[in-house]
Amino acid sequence: MPIAEIIAIGTELLLGEIPDTNTQYIARTMRELGINLFRTTVVGDNKDRIAALVREAMGRSEIIITTGGLGPTVDDPTREALAQATDSDLMFHPELWESISKRFIKAGRTPGDNQKRQAYIPHNAIIINNPVGTAPAFIIITEKNAVISLPGVPAEMKTLLDISVIPFLQQHYNLKETLKVRTLHTSGAGEGWIDERISDLETLVNPTVGLAAHSGMVDIRITARAANEIEAEKLIINLETEIRNRLGDFIYGSDKATLEETALDASAQCGWKVFCVEAGTAGLLNQRLSTLQNPTYLGGCQLPDNTNSLHENVEVFRKDGKADVVLGLSVTLKDNSSLIHLVILAPEKDYDHQVNYIGHPDNAPILGVNLMLDRLRRLKGIEPTSK
Ligand code: ATP
Repeated sequence: MPIAEIIAIGTELLLGEIPDTNTQYIARTMRELGINLFRTTVVGDNKDRIAALVREAMGRSEIIITTGGLGPTVDDPTREALAQATDSDLMFHPELWESISKRFIKAGRTPGDNQKRQAYIPHNAIIINNPVGTAPAFIIITEKNAVISLPGVPAEMKTLLDISVIPFLQQHYNLKETLKVRTLHTSGAGEGWIDERISDLETLVNPTVGLAAHSGMVDIRITARAANEIEAEKLIINLETEIRNRLGDFIYGSDKATLEETALDASAQCGWKVFCVEAGTAGLLNQRLSTLQNPTYLGGCQLPDNTNSLHENVEVFRKDGKADVVLGLSVTLKDNSSLIHLVILAPEKDYDHQVNYIGHPDNAPILGVNLMLDRLRRLKGIEPTSK
């Protein structure tokens, strides 16, 4: 199984001006192809530093994928850097120059010397035709490596990766394995509690199991490697069933399912209309619920921060009779901790609960919203509490 490395090129990435979404996209593609990715790097628009980094990467990984720095200007140094890293020179390609010129003329512009720079490619490179832009991409194949250079513009990079690079990698490395991932989402249980119940599964080799904790939620990622999709799915299903048996309804969904969607679907199934009242959360609960555009969600109202007597305030909205379920959430800073207050007034039972949260206050509203949504999705089954 080949090892790959990604090098994102661009000083704007180092300055934090734009997020490096290209690396994320390429990394996912590597995973789907079953290629091991052990390292990614970001480097500025500097020819010598790029060349040194590519050389270093070629020593430890078979596949090097660079993105960015292929444009027409002097600060687009990738072509020269890759020629330097692979002991090559730049060579002028008249056919490339012709197609670059045609694209420019078609766009009503006159190509100049800068654009001509893009027709110079390392002489040992195979050109990847770029139907969606002018920056020509290329692959340099050496005895041990394939160095693949893609443009920085995300749409161009993705197109070339999909139509040219993936078929090249599959053929060149005779890739047959595939990697499949299923993420199970849980809410209402801490990472420690989940870990205690499935820690033996976390040591498996194939599929592997990994945990990722978010405020009030834990994701369980199952990754299987197999000869094809069907075999990978079989491996995943077996383990998924085992995990579901152990964790029961703490799992609310998988992959693209969201907690807010699950919670609102659960109350919609009971025929309930939902309204929410919140304070100290900057309207986060309403934001999460309203993006779903589910007609059973009637909207929300924000009370002033530090509102006391949440329960009474929520009661007012129940009395007007429009909603069957009124959710009340407040977050108040108290000494060095945050007090999260949850109130649910529902047709069959009321719920009133307070949680003292000692983590960073910025996380308290997110935790509060997730706790609320967790209770909403289980509303049929939760124990009522006295006021
Ligand atoms: P062009 O010929 O269009 O200049 P290029 O290969 O030279 O392409 P760059 O100049 O490095 O690409 O980047 C062009 C734009 O693409 C950047 O301004 C940025 O908006 C976006 N971009 C570059 N690298 C990345 C990245 N790693 N992740 C997300 N966006 C990126």
